Amino acid sequence: MVGVVALLSLLPSEPVEAKRRSLSIQLPAGQAEDALNSALIDAPTPGKRMRPTPATAPFSSGKPKLVDTVSDVDNQDWKPTILANGDNLTTAFQRLGLNARDVYQVANAKHEAERLARLKPGESLAVTISDDGLLEQVKYTRSKLEHYLYRREGDAFIGEQILFEPEVTQRFKKGQIESSLFLDGSRAGLSEAKIMELANIFAWDVDFALDIRHGDQFSILYEEKYFEGEKIGEGSILAASFTNQGKTYDAVLFRDPDGSNDYYTPDGKPMKKAFLRAPLDFTRISSNFNLRRRHPIHKKIKAHRGVDYAAPRGTPVYAAGNGKVIASGYHRANGNYVFIQHGQQYVTKYLHLHQRKVRKGQSVKQRQTIGTVGSTGYSTGPHLHYEFLVNGVHRNPRTVKLPEAKPIADELKQQFQTQTGPLLAQLKTMSATQLAMLTPEN
Ligand SMILES: [Zn+2]
Repeated sequence: MVGVVALLSLLPSEPVEAKRRSLSIQLPAGQAEDALNSALIDAPTPGKRMRPTPATAPFSSGKPKLVDTVSDVDNQDWKPTILANGDNLTTAFQRLGLNARDVYQVANAKHEAERLARLKPGESLAVTISDDGLLEQVKYTRSKLEHYLYRREGDAFIGEQILFEPEVTQRFKKGQIESSLFLDGSRAGLSEAKIMELANIFAWDVDFALDIRHGDQFSILYEEKYFEGEKIGEGSILAASFTNQGKTYDAVLFRDPDGSNDYYTPDGKPMKKAFLRAPLDFTRISSNFNLRRRHPIHKKIKAHRGVDYAAPRGTPVYAAGNGKVIASGYHRANGNYVFIQHGQQYVTKYLHLHQRKVRKGQSVKQRQTIGTVGSTGYSTGPHLHYEFLVNGVHRNPRTVKLPEAKPIADELKQQFQTQTGPLLAQLKTMSATQLAMLTPEN
C-alpha cells in the first residue's frame, strides 16, 4: 500500500483525471468488465457519429486521396443490394432492375473497373437512378474503409477509389499470471492475437513453456482502430513489459525510416536474438503442464544433457534459430530426431519427435516448424527433449551466454529516442495510474 501511495504522489494529476474520464466512457457491450483492467485513451465516444477522417498525410503516403463525395452522395436516393454467394455484377444489377447495357457500361468504366470483376459475398453495391430511369452512379463498398464510386459521364462511367483512414487510438491493458498467459491475458481483455504477439515479442528472453510463474506480470500499450465511433480492429503493440520471476523486460516498437517495424529494449537493442528461449509452440501447452511440474520425464537436466518440454503429441517444434539441418532420422533411443547447425559454433538437437518436417541439408529459419512433439525412442510420454551445444559441448540452453545483439545504428538513435520515449513513458504512467485507480479512496 505504501508503494501505491508513493506512486500516486509522484504522478501528475492530469493522467489520473484522464483515466477517470476514460473510465466513465460507456464501453461497448462485453467490455465493461475490462474497465478496471484497461483504459481507453482518446477513444472516440461510442455511439457518436464522427466525420470520416480523410486519408491525408501522414497516414496515407502513396494511397489515393479521399474525395469528399461520400457524404454528399449520402443525401441521395441510393438503392442498395448486399452481395450473396455467386453474385456478380450482372446478377446484382438484375436485382436492382438494371439491364445488360448498364452492366456493360459500368464493367467498362474508366478506372477501377477491374474491381467489379471480383465482387465478394457480404460486400454491397448501391446505385442512384435518375427520374427518367437512367443509371447515374454505382457505389461499391468493400469495407467500411474502402469504397469505389462510378459516375456517369455521357455514355461512359468513370470510377474512383475512396479510402477512409480509421481513427487510431491507444489502449492499455495489464494483468498478472494466475494460471496461464492465455487465460490471464484474455481475462485482462486481450484478444488471442494480441496475447500471441505479446509472447512473440519476448520469446527470445522468456521461456513461455517452462519459465512462466504465478505472479508474473504483463502490461501492454497497443493500437485500436475506430471508424465512425465503432471499433474495427486492432493495430500494433506499441510498448510492452513482462516481468518473469522478478525480472522485468521492456520492449518498444520502432518504425524505422525504411519502413521496417521491430521491437527494441528501451536502450535500443533488438528484442530478436539468435535463439528462441523455447523451441516449441507454448500456446499448445496447457497451463497445468508447466506451471507446477517441470520435468515429468527426466528429473535432472544434467543427467541427460538437455531440457524436456512436456507437451501434447503434435505440438509444433520450431528451429530455435536460423541454420541448416545436419541430421534428420530415426534412432532406437532418440526416436525421430533433427539436428540443426547454426553458424560455426552452435548445434541444436530435437529428440523423440512424432513427425519430422525437414530433411538433411535443408536450410531453416528461426521459428520454422521442423517437427512435432511425440514419444518415439526411449521416452515415457510425449515431450520434446532439446539440447544445445556450443563448440561440441552440451550447455544449458536456458542459461548459456549468447552473443549480444547489436544495438540500433548511431544515425537512428535520435529518431529512436524521439519515437519510443513517449510510448515507454505512456506505458509506465498507465501502469502506475492503474495501480492507483485500483486502490479505493487512497
Ligand atoms: Zn530428455
